[in-house]
Amino acid sequence: MLQSELFGKTLRESPKDEVAKNADLLIRGGFVAKEIAGIYSFLPLGLRVLNKIGNIIRHELNETLAAQEILMPALHPIENYEKTGRDKIDVLFHTELASGGRLVLGQSHEEIVVPLARRFVSSYRDLPLGLYQIQTKFRNELRAKSGLLRGREFIMKDLYSFHADEKDFEKYYEQAKIAYKNIFAKVGLGDRTYLTFASGGTFSKYSHEFQTLTDAGEDTIYLCEKCEIGINNEIIGEQKKCPQCGAAKEKLAQKKAIEVGNIFPLKTRFSDAFGLSYTDEEGKKHPVIMGCYGLGLGRVMGAIVEVHNDKNGIIWPESVAPYKVHLIELRTKNLELSDDPVPGVAGKLYNDLLAKGVEVLYDDRGDKTAGEKFADADLIGIPWRVVVSEKTLSQRMVELKARNSGNVILVPAQNIYQRITNP
Ligand code: ATP
Ligand code: MG
Repeated sequence: MLQSELFGKTLRESPKDEVAKNADLLIRGGFVAKEIAGIYSFLPLGLRVLNKIGNIIRHELNETLAAQEILMPALHPIENYEKTGRDKIDVLFHTELASGGRLVLGQSHEEIVVPLARRFVSSYRDLPLGLYQIQTKFRNELRAKSGLLRGREFIMKDLYSFHADEKDFEKYYEQAKIAYKNIFAKVGLGDRTYLTFASGGTFSKYSHEFQTLTDAGEDTIYLCEKCEIGINNEIIGEQKKCPQCGAAKEKLAQKKAIEVGNIFPLKTRFSDAFGLSYTDEEGKKHPVIMGCYGLGLGRVMGAIVEVHNDKNGIIWPESVAPYKVHLIELRTKNLELSDDPVPGVAGKLYNDLLAKGVEVLYDDRGDKTAGEKFADADLIGIPWRVVVSEKTLSQRMVELKARNSGNVILVPAQNIYQRITNP
């Protein structure tokens, strides 16, 4: 992508109405633009990151859980919520049909996916089943001050699983933990994201959250370093100990964290509400056992920015970076463009890398100083920066810098591909 044509621009000044670091960096970097609190547009750079996160999730759910992707509607008939008793929950956005009839904007999809499953699931042969989607959710959140961490409109992956019995559910639930672990490792949050015990609400003793340690987090968790699990402050309650090894609360480290995902046993709560059942081999009828598994894509993106940055900007993990290489040409002063060797070398390197399948953002802008280009590159945070200038060409080299380590080396242009693929 030629940066001269990229929609969206970097900003030098922090937006005045944002307190969250992720929002500050993502707006200044030209990844997102704010409409009102908790409601953002994704610009080309931001959408690339979001899509990479989405594809990592898809791959893991398809491979590890053999789940199938669907897409459900965002407009939901209120009647479905009346059946589950969730029509009064405070975050629901309400609207109505011109022809009469009340609707809500989807805040979660149990009320849609269960009636949907009922149309196609009737026998033990139809189970187990895992259905997921990546879709916009709408919630009338009271506090929306955390940038992408808490939107009023946000993209979530929600997965629902359907089982003949508890044993089958539990097996799937354990696999889901593995899938989530893999996802957080792949997006660069693995070393600070902990499986965390949370209250199970009305459905069971525990549910589980995946909590990423960051001071930007809204939750407090207690970390058991021995078990490598967390316990949400809301549930540590009277017992004040690790539910796994029994270590006392004093032995646990209190940390700020953000919930990036959760997994939840639903038992027969929603199957009962909609009459979702199956017949076993003997022709006996049973309610379907369910689980649900949420993961916020925007929240994950915000969390990555919260933990991977320095004073100059974002430091994207390669797996989710909008581009792998930020190629910068610094045209030679006092030379006619046609006499300047820099654009030719940079342009050739750009085409060579594209031909090899490398994603490159090429800063071909002629009206920016070296200082402005370097500041933009640090802010945007692409893993590899390559500079072509009069100075590097005088040594028949280009300059390669890793955003995460800051290491700079001079290498021949033809060696760049090898350097960035086997660093
Ligand atoms: P929280 O306690 O933070 O409000 P939640 O318990 O409401 O989260 P779920 O309804 O289970 O979360 O949603 C599943 C996932 O969706 C969460 O783990 C989180 O990653 C994401 N998520 C939830 N609410 C938001 C929001 N307002 N903005 C962005 N992502 C969200
Ligand atoms: Mg919530």
